[in-house]
Amino acid sequence: MVSGQKRFQESGARQDKSRRASVIEQCLRRAYPKPAIALHFSTPLQLLVAVILSAQCTDARVNIVTKELFKKYRTANDFANAKLKELEKEIHSTGFYKSKAKNIVACCQVLVEKYGGQVPQTMEELTALAGVGRKTANCLLGGCFNIPSGIVVDTHVKRLANRLGLSKQDDPEKIESDLMELLPQKDWIHFGNALIHHGRKICNARKPLCAECVLNDLCPLAFTIV
Ligand code: SF4
Repeated sequence: MVSGQKRFQESGARQDKSRRASVIEQCLRRAYPKPAIALHFSTPLQLLVAVILSAQCTDARVNIVTKELFKKYRTANDFANAKLKELEKEIHSTGFYKSKAKNIVACCQVLVEKYGGQVPQTMEELTALAGVGRKTANCLLGGCFNIPSGIVVDTHVKRLANRLGLSKQDDPEKIESDLMELLPQKDWIHFGNALIHHGRKICNARKPLCAECVLNDLCPLAFTIV
């Protein structure tokens, strides 16, 4: 059983962490006022396809592939009726091309059958689609519809949340729920997108640039990773 004193200490520690998370968010807002999504898209459908393709692949590579892909497949119906072998070839360089092609077609078939070819706007509906998890759904809802459904946790957000001492978890969904507890909902979209930028630009996996980091006086690991 958790003693009253321990509960008190835990809730105090949570408040401290939450305050620190808010200061981190303020610093990130100053550094990255409007962090854009690195994937190129002009419709929710395009972002959905691009995020599916981005699993285990760089955004730069996805952007090269989608530049041609989106000229050929313009609607959910186009993707739903794609010839699987042809689509596999077209997205081959993004890796895991067989499952990605299968998911894109299956997903777009549901968009056509259930949603008139449109991308739905709820977490439940999105995560029921083939190849769509919370990360993709958060990215779509925040990026296209400005709906703060959660926090996008990709490899950068995962690394940064751990390094900044905001979550000890390894599983992205558990990290997301830790971060959602620490920050008000109005900050969720920005926080995830800003951490992705910060992870790419400054706090990279092998050699974080702590001397240039706007968070270095808030980070428990500042100047310790060599
Ligand atoms: S201080 Fe260093 S380790 Fe900490 S967030 Fe900044 S770059 Fe990353």
